[in-house]
Amino acid sequence: MESEYRTAEDIFECKMCGDCCKGFGGTYVTRNDIVNISLFIHSDPDKFIDQYCDPSGSRHVLTRGEDGRCIFFDKEKQCTIHPVKPYMCKAWPFIAAVIKVPENWDIMANSCPGIKKGIPHEALIKIIEIEKEKLDHIKPHPQEEKE
Ligand code: SF4
Ligand code: SF4
Repeated sequence: MESEYRTAEDIFECKMCGDCCKGFGGTYVTRNDIVNISLFIHSDPDKFIDQYCDPSGSRHVLTRGEDGRCIFFDKEKQCTIHPVKPYMCKAWPFIAAVIKVPENWDIMANSCPGIKKGIPHEALIKIIEIEKEKLDHIKPHPQEEKE
């Protein structure tokens, strides 16, 4: 019998609470993210890390404001860089870590009220693979640099 869970909308609906913009451990940015965001906010990509990031191990995460949320979060507008938000934000909650360990889905649901718990693992993995594939096939901006 076919699962009742077939699409992303069947298992997730964002409630716009903004809690994921607290980073859940940090919003990592790739070089592509840095170039895209810099173009969008008319800023110099070479200065982006100094101006908008903090170190986290060997990588960088977006700086957080006083409310603990990402520096690009706004109470009214939510994400002010929505069209170019980092890969990590675009992918959430359809992330590779759930394909590897499906139990992660219900754990993530404890922090994200948009995630429906208790989805059968087979259906869950199928949906995440489809969403990940869609995101990974978006054409990069011509000015983006390869990582
Ligand atoms: S925590 Fe979940 S429900 Fe809340 S804004 Fe983020 S994705 Fe949407
Ligand atoms: S870039 Fe946007 S979606 Fe991502 S954490 Fe910051 S405000 Fe939230």
